[in-house]
Amino acid sequence: MAYTISDACISCGACADECPVECISEGDERYVINADECIECGSCASVCPVDAPQQAE
Ligand code: SF4
Ligand code: SF4
Repeated sequence: MAYTISDACISCGACADECPVECISEGDERYVINADECIECGSCASVCPVDAPQQAE
């Protein structure tokens, strides 16, 4: 499953800079991941200061 970004996101932008396929963009209230493009590499989760990117079970 692709990663998704939870309400915990503080819109710091760190994940978007790290994503190798550039599928993370700034949304209205938090950053959002394009699930169709996410390759599930986990880079966003590893750089996020608040652990907002989560992979669905
Ligand atoms: S898991 Fe990887 S490909 Fe998917 S959004 Fe995060 S950084 Fe991008
Ligand atoms: S790194 Fe975490 S807090 Fe920062 S924009 Fe991405 S999901 Fe939000």
